[in-house]
Amino acid sequence: MADCLFCKIVAGEIPTNKVYEDDKVLAFGDINPQAPVHILIIPKKHIKSLEDVSNEDVELLGHIQLVASKLAKENNLNDGYRLVNNCGVDGGQTVAHIHYHLLGGRTFGWPPG
Ligand code: AMP
Ligand code: ZN
Repeated sequence: MADCLFCKIVAGEIPTNKVYEDDKVLAFGDINPQAPVHILIIPKKHIKSLEDVSNEDVELLGHIQLVASKLAKENNLNDGYRLVNNCGVDGGQTVAHIHYHLLGGRTFGWPPG
């Protein structure tokens, strides 16, 4: 997707603080961190949002959760963390390329705002 910010990051056209990469996913530090650890995990494949996933994405979505768990361990988030997907306008999604926020290093409230 030519006009997608996160596709440009995948293509290496925009620099990021990369913390993990494999053939399917990329993870990098959020530019506006909301917690001591705030990592974005994205598929390299352009998918607009969780609204747009299909059966063929099941393995990819599971893989993202495994990467999140691995990165949480690497960052010593031993007391817990939050993995968030904002979907659509009501969910607060601002970048139209599916991504998961791995947040940790502080205690989070519930319900979210
Ligand atoms: P969301 O609001 O769930 O769509 O999350 C989008 C996230 O992308 C926000 O937390 C932004 O701070 C983050 N973001 C936007 N541009 C960049 C960038 N160039 N590098 C890293 N994170 C970014
Ligand atoms: Zn994209």
